[in-house]
Amino acid sequence: MIYLDHAATTPLPRAVAEAMYDVLVGDFANPSAQYPAGVAMKKRVEGWRAAIAAAIPCQPRQLHFTSCGTESDNWAIQAALWQNRRVGRHIITTAVEHSAILEPLKLLEQQGYEVTRLKPGRDGMVTARQVADALREDTALVTMMLVNNETGCVFPVAEVAALLRQRGSRALLHTDAVQAFLKVPCDPKALGVDMMSLSAHKIGGPKGIGALYVADTVRAIRPLLPGGGQEEGTRSGTEATAQIAGFAKAVEVRRGDAAASPARLAALKDYCRQKLLAIPGVVEVARGDAPHIIMVSLPGYPSANVITDLGAQGICISAGSACHRGRLSHVVEALGLDKRTAAGVLRISFGPENTEADVDALAAALDAHRARRFPML
Ligand code: PLP
Repeated sequence: MIYLDHAATTPLPRAVAEAMYDVLVGDFANPSAQYPAGVAMKKRVEGWRAAIAAAIPCQPRQLHFTSCGTESDNWAIQAALWQNRRVGRHIITTAVEHSAILEPLKLLEQQGYEVTRLKPGRDGMVTARQVADALREDTALVTMMLVNNETGCVFPVAEVAALLRQRGSRALLHTDAVQAFLKVPCDPKALGVDMMSLSAHKIGGPKGIGALYVADTVRAIRPLLPGGGQEEGTRSGTEATAQIAGFAKAVEVRRGDAAASPARLAALKDYCRQKLLAIPGVVEVARGDAPHIIMVSLPGYPSANVITDLGAQGICISAGSACHRGRLSHVVEALGLDKRTAAGVLRISFGPENTEADVDALAAALDAHRARRFPML
């Protein structure tokens, strides 16, 4: 199989699986238990937290484990609106956030919140200027992703943070860094964000574990899951020890793998861009700066047909977010493409195991598809 859909999820390196196995069947104790095995497990959890925190970088106590990036996004929204409940009920976001942001915001609208969704330009970008124009006295939260999961566009989060400071805004700033972590700089202090969401399965970790970075600017974060008091009382539930071990190991493996370096991925993406744009009819949809995601289109050739055809040959790509099977994603819709281009979008996303040979195979299969079929639109 040639897997070119790393923005959807990533394969798990053997070392990560082994680290998890060790905890699943060996050191299985509950970290809250009082006997030595429990105390030792609590220590290990804190060690894994510290290792992940060092890679962000942040203080270990600022990193809260969650069950996924979706949970982190939902929690960040709730936390910001709770802290700023007297500031107002206005929220600024972009029209191209992940559904883990957009869907909870839709529910909040039904409860009386007002949401401004910034539209991207034709290049997929949103600007700090758009945030400046939308910002109000009663804006409680600005949530803007760092890397868009479909276009690979890197959004100007640091500029937005500077703008909020300069305007003396009390709005909290959250960024969904699920696609950004270990691919573009994510230092939350340098970015100036109050909260940041992460997910392990985009970096070679297991599915079902994420984290929320919470800066000290967020006072007394409101518990997401009240209960037994884990995660310093902020998110109860017995710690997912094996998932956390896997998350930490994935970070270690990724950081030590030269093939996973942003520079290498960017070079591969560049090679892919050249190969694909050489195919008659193929156009670039957005020139995102993230090193691992490229979006192109073969106008007139429905992406579902291309994906099925290539999939049958063992080549895995997508038409956008994995959460939008079969229909045009809201990101593609927001780009305002013509109908033929929108229907033909293809997202290719790279990981450390990909090579130029994978790209060659993709380009040959796509060209053959084009040559075999007539445009349907
Ligand atoms: N945010 C972005 C930008 C994503 O790409 C994803 C996953 O596709 C998520 C959030 C959700 O992460 P998870 O699958 O861990 O819930």
